[in-house]
Amino acid sequence: MPHEVYLDNNATTRVLPEVADAMLPFLTERYGNPSSIHRFGSAVGERLARAREQVTHLLGAADPVEIIFTSCGTEGDNAAIRGMLEARPNKRHIVTTQVEHPAVLSLCQHLEKRGYRVTWLKVDENGALDLEELRSALTDDTALVSVMWANNETGVIFPVEQIGAIVKAKGIPFHVDAVQAAGKLHLNVKDLPVDLMTISGHKFYAPKGVGALYVKRGLTFPPFMMGGHQERNRRGGTENVAGIIGMGAAAEIAASRIDSDAARITKLRDQLETLLLGSCPGSRINGGAQKRLPNTCNMSFRYLEGESILVLLDQQGVCASTGSACTAGSSEPSHVLRAMKVPPDWLQGAVRFSLGRFNTEEEIAYVNEKMPKIVQRLEGLSSLGKLAGQRTEDLSAGVTMRARG
Ligand code: PLP
Repeated sequence: MPHEVYLDNNATTRVLPEVADAMLPFLTERYGNPSSIHRFGSAVGERLARAREQVTHLLGAADPVEIIFTSCGTEGDNAAIRGMLEARPNKRHIVTTQVEHPAVLSLCQHLEKRGYRVTWLKVDENGALDLEELRSALTDDTALVSVMWANNETGVIFPVEQIGAIVKAKGIPFHVDAVQAAGKLHLNVKDLPVDLMTISGHKFYAPKGVGALYVKRGLTFPPFMMGGHQERNRRGGTENVAGIIGMGAAAEIAASRIDSDAARITKLRDQLETLLLGSCPGSRINGGAQKRLPNTCNMSFRYLEGESILVLLDQQGVCASTGSACTAGSSEPSHVLRAMKVPPDWLQGAVRFSLGRFNTEEEIAYVNEKMPKIVQRLEGLSSLGKLAGQRTEDLSAGVTMRARG
């Protein structure tokens, strides 16, 4: 029996041993500041340049100068959107989708309160965008379009190339949140009609606290952190040297394994889905009819609470999520599933399993062994609650159930 089954790789991934090895010298004896003129610093600067090339290669960008190192995906998303608004001060309209990560969503909600007009593109019940809606949303006042490449909750992939073609035909800057796509899909950004793209290291086996923003050469992009001359004056501040070197190493490994990882992980994910759909009546896949990331499975269990399932899974050593880590702990149903109009009976019972490079068939079999029992137990509690017409508490498990009809 596996001791711990980690199926929450869209929240974060384990740092690869090769990545930690690459970082270690820069936390110990090679601690120079890359901006220093002396050899102790400039040697570190040279190593950062290599990491920039590794990230350039993962993104399929044309030139390392297009990469700005950041501290995370949230920073990249914020910098891209705010940067475009600053560069085009007369434009007051933003186009994005209803299913973005909070890193984009909350910022756009905030900007809406500050007087910007935001068009929130809808998705259909499969999680797909209507490109005609996008086309008709664009106006002369549109400052930018920001759309994610792949959804963190469902794994649904948006057609970035088609979206970009529509947006660029109007001469509007296009930002793509590729945080979940990087390391899982071929990005080839130099061949795409994309101006800005955000990635985050900890989603592809690098440490937390480091990311990158791609800014296409020639795009007017104002500095977003004033300070020193780092990152070509665009983001001042001494670099997270070890983190960046780790992200470079992880990028190189990811780039060399995208196809083999995708094949292996898709097979495991599909196995998990087939097994659970068979063993748990009253389950369904959200977004399953769309092109999806290889690793992501979003499943709903009818009438149940996702959080209760997670607690019981956790007791069996299985780590999963109800959606994005940022909304875990809140009992609000997922904004992504609501936008997909997932029916009320299914909405609260969503669980996201996101697989990674270290998962095995044995682990999938283990989850399938535990899951039907968990579902049965919660279904029993749910019908008890319905009979009593009140909340039912399973104190022994520490799980609170809400009776749903
Ligand atoms: N965008 C997407 C699609 C994400 O999934 C995440 C994190 O889950 C982020 C942005 C934010 O990235 P970070 O956690 O590095 O700030």
